[in-house]
Amino acid sequence: MDLLGRVRALLADHPPAGTAPLDFLRARFDAGLAWVHFPVGLGGLGLARSEQAVLEAELAAAGAPDNNPRRIGIGLGMAAPTILRYGTEEQKARFLRPLWTGEEVWCQLFSEPGAGSDLAALAARAVLGEDGVWTVDGQKVWTSTAHTARWAILLARTDPAVPKHRGITYFVCDMTDPGVEVRPLRQITGEAEFNEVFLTGVRIPDAHRLGAVGEGWQVAQTTLNNERVAIGGQAAPRESGMIGVVAEVWRNRPELRTPELHQRLLKGWADAEVVRLTGERLRQQLALGQPGPEGAAMKLAFARLAQELSSLELELLGEEGLHYDDWTMTRPEVVDFTGREAGYRYLRAKGNSIEGGTSEILRNIIAERVLGLPAEPRADKDLPWKDVPR
Ligand SMILES: Cc1cc2nc3c(=O)[nH]c(=O)nc-3n(C[C@H](O)[C@H](O)[C@H](O)COP(=O)(O)OP(=O)(O)OC[C@H]3O[C@@H](n4cnc5c(N)ncnc54)[C@H](O)[C@@H]3O)c2cc1C
Repeated sequence: MDLLGRVRALLADHPPAGTAPLDFLRARFDAGLAWVHFPVGLGGLGLARSEQAVLEAELAAAGAPDNNPRRIGIGLGMAAPTILRYGTEEQKARFLRPLWTGEEVWCQLFSEPGAGSDLAALAARAVLGEDGVWTVDGQKVWTSTAHTARWAILLARTDPAVPKHRGITYFVCDMTDPGVEVRPLRQITGEAEFNEVFLTGVRIPDAHRLGAVGEGWQVAQTTLNNERVAIGGQAAPRESGMIGVVAEVWRNRPELRTPELHQRLLKGWADAEVVRLTGERLRQQLALGQPGPEGAAMKLAFARLAQELSSLELELLGEEGLHYDDWTMTRPEVVDFTGREAGYRYLRAKGNSIEGGTSEILRNIIAERVLGLPAEPRADKDLPWKDVPR
């Protein structure tokens, strides 16, 4: 049966109007119609990634529920491709289905107080016991959605005696383990999307290791490359997202217009098209393999544009745009740029150039891995991690 035939069979067996959303999503996964480029049995059909758009359009037209990709963005965008590439068959069978349906939310326990841009400097420690269970101790920070997550992807140091990139191992951490403590961290918008996470004697079975012991850095590259694509490169129609909001203000409020702001709007509009089409090209490249360092350029352009457009919107609106005064602490599960006020957008966009790798680090990646320019000096590259001054 061809792809559209399979979609129609799914819709006939599980009419969206009469089926509970979760039942529909489970049936969709089992029919191989979750992510068509994944293997058969894991929510896919082994087809080209480009076929996904055909499928999504057909399902949307039929009013089928979606799997709320923004709420479960870390699972879909980062954990899933890493599990697919490095996971055992048992891990793939256990984790991918509830991840895709949204029954299990994921978070990313990478950053630490002393390890952000220099992620390989991380200090959370994992020690393997004779019973085949790892014990993890350490502190993570800026962990988005840790308060709703069932599972985490976690990087921990397993060998302090070797240089920093070589002694790291990648795990799946159970967020319900009694040793996991999640504390909210408030950000510039007043809300707490992210958290500090304290890990004290957290027990992780060796079966929850992703990739070989000591090779977590290579596994993490898959996650980080996918993260940059996930943050910067969602498929979007023309004039959607931030440029759509600003263009609407421009069209509806002629009294706010000035020639200078007009020039900036035109430039922003053209830049938004460039970013959108670059994202489209990146998605087509993805159909041929894993994302490479080019994803860094996409994420960098997205962050810069989001900040420029949110500033432009505030300048357009003047005093009115500054009316952001709801400082009640909330714990949102999604970052809703278009559904919120201008002041919120302006403040939240600041994080775009930090989350998923700062703009400075992305420029380094582009310089070194895309353009082939000389690498930054790395004095601690060959030193055992335990001997690095800190
Ligand atoms: C909204 C948000 C959500 C996040 N969610 C998560 C999450 O879910 N999970 C997670 O693990 N982390 C998360 N993070 C953390 C994020 O990945 C880190 O904040 C980021 O990697 C930067 O690290 P840092 O904050 O330690 O800054 P630092 O590394 O201390 O950097 C400070 C400044 O120095 C610059 N800098 C550092 N090194 C260099 C260099 N070599 N060359 C040039 N400039 C340099 C940086 O670009 C930056 O401007 C989130 C962050 C934000 C803002």
